[in-house]
Amino acid sequence: MRLLVAEDVAVSRTMLVSALRRMGHEVVATADGKEAWQVLCNEPIRLVIADWDMPEMDGIELVKRIRQAKNEYYTYVILLTAKSTQEDCITGLEAGADDYIVKPFDPQELMFRVRSGERVVRLEEELARRNEQLAELAMVDELTGIRNRRSFDESYAKLLAQAKRYGLQLGLAMIDIDQFKSYNDTFGHEAGDDVLATVASTLSANLRTADLVFRYGGEEFVCLWPMTGVRGARVVAERLRRAVESVGIPHPGNPPHGVVSISLGYACYDRESECVGDDLLRLADDALYRCKRNGRNRILASNEEIDESETPAEEAV
Ligand code: GH3
Ligand code: MG
Ligand code: MG
Ligand code: MG
Repeated sequence: MRLLVAEDVAVSRTMLVSALRRMGHEVVATADGKEAWQVLCNEPIRLVIADWDMPEMDGIELVKRIRQAKNEYYTYVILLTAKSTQEDCITGLEAGADDYIVKPFDPQELMFRVRSGERVVRLEEELARRNEQLAELAMVDELTGIRNRRSFDESYAKLLAQAKRYGLQLGLAMIDIDQFKSYNDTFGHEAGDDVLATVASTLSANLRTADLVFRYGGEEFVCLWPMTGVRGARVVAERLRRAVESVGIPHPGNPPHGVVSISLGYACYDRESECVGDDLLRLADDALYRCKRNGRNRILASNEEIDESETPAEEAV
């Protein structure tokens, strides 16, 4: 592994470096704490062997800086010291060192101490990797494999802030499967689950690369369309509606369509046209509600008027 050595006495440094290289390590050698700190600022080296007494910056100060840096990864520090009283050792450990070796060092002891440092570094790396995986899993909906509500909350806040700061457009769509309760009642809950997965993958497959789709809950989905205004949103919305309808999953309880369909309400944030839909979610949801009242299997923008005379008679909602 790649190690950093900080030792001001040239002879000791050379001995240390060659001992470590014999153990198979890659070594960056520095002559004082300041130089070592500069290297660490530019390169994430995770195991440091630092002498205590050094000009410019001593080992204790170096350890303190490393601990204060609050890097995402852990840096394991072994202090090398001629001081051997218990008090000295405690001072070193208190400053944040993980271990210490009393000079003159015994090569075998050095090897074991470096090896246990390496073990700690590896474990810490593995832990960080697993935490990352867990964080990713926490953002995914188990049934459909797409992003979940938690992920939506995060992305929405980020994209809306970005849109506001840079004057970009942002489209948001609320999507709800039509008459889904009736589908479950007719075909069973498991078949219903399959439909949810199919709708999710159909939506994903029909979005552009920068677009995002989330399962908002139950049989509801939400999309975020970065840099998309009303006109662009209409095109994507209609493509999604048609894509789901085209899968052609029979659904007799959804007349007159007869297949599984979605209703989609959308709203856009757009500073230029002063359509400042700050609460896009509510606006899109209102539009979705109007889709439901007006025959389902349709799309509507938040500010779009509909000719109610064209639409089927009002049913109980
Ligand atoms: P509308 O067209 O007005 O949206 O009617 P709907 O029947 O789809 O709406 P409603 O809100 O009455 O019912 C939603 C149904 O979605 C009820 C519930 O059983 C079903 N549902 C929610 N989550 C799941 C799920 O994870 N799996 C399955 N199979 N069904 C679900
Ligand atoms: Mg020294
Ligand atoms: Mg619903
Ligand atoms: Mg529904």
